Amino acid sequence: MVYLDHAATSPLCDEARVAMEPYLTERFGNASEPHAPGRLAREGLERARAQVAELLGCEPRQVVFTSGGTEADNQAVFGLAGRPLGRLVVSAVEHSAVLEPARELERQGFDVAWAGVDSDGVLDVAAFEQAVASGDRLAAVMWANNVTGALQPVAELAAICAERGVPLHVDAVQAAASLPVDFRSGGAETIALSAHKMHGPKGVGALIARDPARLRPLIWGGGQESGLRSGTENVAGVVGFAAALAAVRGKSDRRRELRDRLERALPELTVVSDGADRLPGHSLLLVEGVRAELLVLSLDRAGYAVSAGSACASGDQEPSHVLLAQGMTPDHARSVIRVSIGITTTESEIDGFATELRDAIERLRAGALV
Ligand code: PLP
Repeated sequence: MVYLDHAATSPLCDEARVAMEPYLTERFGNASEPHAPGRLAREGLERARAQVAELLGCEPRQVVFTSGGTEADNQAVFGLAGRPLGRLVVSAVEHSAVLEPARELERQGFDVAWAGVDSDGVLDVAAFEQAVASGDRLAAVMWANNVTGALQPVAELAAICAERGVPLHVDAVQAAASLPVDFRSGGAETIALSAHKMHGPKGVGALIARDPARLRPLIWGGGQESGLRSGTENVAGVVGFAAALAAVRGKSDRRRELRDRLERALPELTVVSDGADRLPGHSLLLVEGVRAELLVLSLDRAGYAVSAGSACASGDQEPSHVLLAQGMTPDHARSVIRVSIGITTTESEIDGFATELRDAIERLRAGALV
């Protein structure tokens, strides 16, 4: 099977597996215990925190480990919104991990302004500037979109928010998997990360917070993670996360080359968000007149794994809200396939895929079932 769905999840890299192994076996201790096994686990945990902080350009105390991107996004949105009721500005193309908390706050009585995007899926900076007002509780804009790969002008948006004293939450789950995301220069109040998108383990991520005291815990208990995220620490997970974050650094050029090679091989297809800066290993292809689910099934039979949109909306047949927000018709939005490249993807896999994709499209256009 040739795996080209790294935006959904990615296989564990060797660096992460090797780093994790001792913490799954002999270094199994509970990091909260003062005895030797506990101290070994604590050491691994704090080393991973320092490594993540160094790679992301923040301080170790600003790293809150979570169970993944969804929890980090939830904690940022609910934590920064706080109480009493107020107003938020949220981009219309957010992942459901931000969208649903924002909708929940809307149900609770918050006023949510949804910021639109252009036809490439990029936020309209002037409209955002108009939308964000001093006194707003938070703005939320993702760094890179999980459907199109389009990047947002985060530093520019952060400057607008800073001027008005509004904290900006940035979902960097996809961006940090292939770009050298830097917390300090990004200017956000909080960013969310997830290890499994970057060849790390599933079920672990982090919320990086400029001022962790502004956050509130979502999960209460033993007070781990400075009281912000209770629960016995997933030491093997965070150690694997730190190793994976280091391993994906410096590998974006290769992913971009492979992505460009694929798009050059298929000039007859439309690349969605082509006018935007995009994630290096990410390509969303519009195959007019062909239903994406059928194409994905056909490619699966031929040994290629790609996505019909976003695996985050598991099994959802509805057209992606991201594509509708950027003005695509529902018909076109149901005819896109997402190809996402990992650190071990090869040229021959890309070439084989391009050939197979063209064949599968021909078969489906000729009326074959898959
Ligand atoms: N944010 C984005 C942009 C994503 O692509 C995902 C992927 O599922 C998430 C958040 C959720 O991350 P996790 O799967 O770690 O909960």
